[in-house]
Amino acid sequence: MNLDARTLFFSLMVNVLLMSIALSFNVRWRSRSGIRAWNASLMIQALSWALLIAAYRVLPREMATLGVAGLTGAMSFVYVAAKTYLREPLVKPWLWGVPLVTTAVHWLVFSNYQARIAVTNAALALQIGWIAWVLVRPRARPQTDGRWRWLAATALMMSGVMVTGRFFLVTFSPEAYPSFEAGHWINTLGLVLTNADLTLGTLAFLLAHRDEAERELQLLATTDGLTGVMNRRQWMASAEVHVRLAERHVQPVTVMMFDIDHFKQLNDTRGHAAGDAALVRFAQALQGAVRQPDLVGRYGGEEFCVLLPQSDAVAAKAIDRRLREALARDAAPAQGLLITCTVGVAEWRPGARLDDLLAAADAALYRGKAAGRDRLEVGDISFGADRTPPTTG
Ligand code: GH3
Ligand code: MG
Ligand code: MG
Repeated sequence: MNLDARTLFFSLMVNVLLMSIALSFNVRWRSRSGIRAWNASLMIQALSWALLIAAYRVLPREMATLGVAGLTGAMSFVYVAAKTYLREPLVKPWLWGVPLVTTAVHWLVFSNYQARIAVTNAALALQIGWIAWVLVRPRARPQTDGRWRWLAATALMMSGVMVTGRFFLVTFSPEAYPSFEAGHWINTLGLVLTNADLTLGTLAFLLAHRDEAERELQLLATTDGLTGVMNRRQWMASAEVHVRLAERHVQPVTVMMFDIDHFKQLNDTRGHAAGDAALVRFAQALQGAVRQPDLVGRYGGEEFCVLLPQSDAVAAKAIDRRLREALARDAAPAQGLLITCTVGVAEWRPGARLDDLLAAADAALYRGKAAGRDRLEVGDISFGADRTPPTTG
């Protein structure tokens, strides 16, 4: 097979350009989106290759160094894309350090062909290897799991093997290293792989983009927009599962229902925004007061629910105490506004459904309000007239 390097290169440029234009028009940009960084990387790569070709043919050395700056800079954009979708912070030396150092060294050793080619390929191999590792290393945060990571890493590793090979070739056998446009098999293979990589990379980051959008939708559908705790639907669904588990294993489970005292008054005297802020503070205090497996949800306007798996009213009272302490701490320095709440508690007993628990907690809460608020009441489950508690012994 006689593949022509120039034709391959030309088709690579056309590919990159079209892909980049297509991405620009078809992906909705957000301010810090990973696919945008990938797109920037595509454009910078295309520009850098054009510069390198131009430098090889006609232009002065500045152009070649600029081309190398572009190639390593483009890899930094791939790094940004990967880190954005992984939701990890950027590490500055990888972002800025490698491109800057490589460019400086390339400039300094420019007169030495072997050295400058070696430096460029070594830097690219280092960047590519690191990004691929970042993508597939055993992850601390499994929620960012996705097959896109393996696809992107595979694409990167193909390029990685290529630049590593080039590095060794120019270091140990410089006379065999083909010039930029030569119809040498190394060039041909390199161009074919780069072409494939860019397509696979684009696919991988589009998948990452879709995964992220899905995750955000999922979050929107399950959490309360103001306080960040579960919304009512999600809380009910999760609580339902725990009540069924309690039934199956005959284990305790307890539901707490919180209603902030005189909240209407707070809204009326300090304004709706202050009311919202108080709700956020309350939710934070509540989340700080519960333990890890407890489910916190916003049940209604200023009503919250907590389900305590494998726990009884004693645990509920401990949460109630911690919550009141936190609310008192919150009130002291800030605005002197003490939020209090009334709490209704219901313990599961055999045969009870989630609705029964909620009804019992609500009744206890109502009693607490009637008795003067700012307190916890434990309720009793009463089965409806149409249902009788099981008579198991
Ligand atoms: P009580 O001690 O009997 O519970 O009195 P209350 O005023 O807290 O009770 P009520 O249920 O009458 O009032 C609840 C108020 O909560 C009514 C509504 O204006 C307010 N509210 C509900 N949702 C929100 C919200 O998202 N933001 C704000 N700021 N206020 C809300
Ligand atoms: Mg209420
Ligand atoms: Mg209230």
